[in-house]
Amino acid sequence: MPNPQFTKPWHGIPRENIEWNPTIIEDACIGCGTCVTGCSRLVYRFDFERKKPVVIDPLNCMVGCTTCANTCPAQAIVFPPLESILALEGLPEVRHAVEDDLLNRRDILVSPLSIPHPDRIVSLSVSGIEPVSPEVIRVTLTPVEAGECFCEFSAGQYIELWQPGSSHLSRSYSIANAPHGDGSITLHIRRVESGRFTAWAFNEMKVGDQLQARGPLGSFTMRSAPDTPLLFIAGGTGLAPVLALLEQQVTFSPERDMRLVWGMKHAADFYALDTLHLLASRAPNLKVVLAAEDLTSFEGPTSKHLDWIEGNVLDAMEEDNALSILRDLYIAGPPAMLREIARDLDRRGVSRERVHMDSFGV
Ligand SMILES: Cc1cc2nc3c(=O)[nH]c(=O)nc-3n(C[C@H](O)[C@H](O)[C@H](O)COP(=O)(O)OP(=O)(O)OC[C@H]3O[C@@H](n4cnc5c(N)ncnc54)[C@H](O)[C@@H]3O)c2cc1C
Ligand code: SF4
Ligand code: SF4
Repeated sequence: MPNPQFTKPWHGIPRENIEWNPTIIEDACIGCGTCVTGCSRLVYRFDFERKKPVVIDPLNCMVGCTTCANTCPAQAIVFPPLESILALEGLPEVRHAVEDDLLNRRDILVSPLSIPHPDRIVSLSVSGIEPVSPEVIRVTLTPVEAGECFCEFSAGQYIELWQPGSSHLSRSYSIANAPHGDGSITLHIRRVESGRFTAWAFNEMKVGDQLQARGPLGSFTMRSAPDTPLLFIAGGTGLAPVLALLEQQVTFSPERDMRLVWGMKHAADFYALDTLHLLASRAPNLKVVLAAEDLTSFEGPTSKHLDWIEGNVLDAMEEDNALSILRDLYIAGPPAMLREIARDLDRRGVSRERVHMDSFGV
């Protein structure tokens, strides 16, 4: 019998709607019984006549668990691909159920080893909201109290932001500029379907709103020796921390040999081209390549400093031959893009020590 204790909905999804249970490869099984006795959820029983395990209560199996397969000495147990579970975790309702559960059971789940967070919490006022593409807004935040700012942050870092009065956790956004004297910072926020924070940011946030921010956070900062050539790679709003690093370099080392490859799905989504043009015009050895898989209705950049290709960032890297000399790499964007690039760099034998990555989470 399925045990109600084990067959509760998984982060809001009815357990019977999730295909996750072991399958025994009978021919490979040596009948040792490790899986039967090792599973505390009584998924298995043992057929003493045949000396084989039998999956009796598959719904008792814990979603995502593969312990019995890992400990089977004959490797006779298989599961559906883990990607099926990772895809469920990408659903807004699952992500939100996890977040709500964390907050509802905060008293029980809080770590007894919690230490006061060393970073600063600062009140910032929304001083500008500018749609820069159909899917991205550029938001400027200014300290509420002059001098109460993240003035000492390093280019490439990010902050955590709280939506005023929200019941969900904070969200992270990269600072898209190098430090400025007045303490103001800009963020590039991309619209996310069914997103909690971004729904508020796109539909309700207005100039004058005050937000709590924590930071500066993260270690995606310049680590390279001053004479090392650099390759920046950005996917989508991964441009934000890369812009900050570029601004820093153009200010302090304008002669440096630098490449930026920026990828988007649709060419119409590129934004901040005026800023890139300005930076490139001040840095004679900076070359910018825009890579878009869909170039429909793209008229091409209006500047000699910007080049573009049809394809993704990996195609652009092939064409540009930018890796033919040794560069340090600074890569920011969605995790799927980062994984693909990491595989490509491994294949090319690029040392991981040269590679710095900033993953935008989920
Ligand atoms: C270090 C760091 C820096 C970041 N910097 C930026 C930045 O500069 N600009 C920016 O726009 N975002 C950035 N992000 C992502 C950002 O923190 C939020 O995750 C994003 O804005 C979605 O929040 P939400 O509350 O609207 O969505 P949620 O309600 O948290 O999620 C809704 C749905 O969208 C999916 N989802 C959530 N985030 C993303 C995402 N980034 N890409 C694709 N799907 C997603 C979830 O899986 C879920 O299905 C950064 C993340 C990290 C960890
Ligand atoms: S994966 Fe875990 S819960 Fe599922 S049958 Fe194996 S040991 Fe039991
Ligand atoms: S642990 Fe593996 S070999 Fe042992 S009974 Fe289970 S399936 Fe068969």
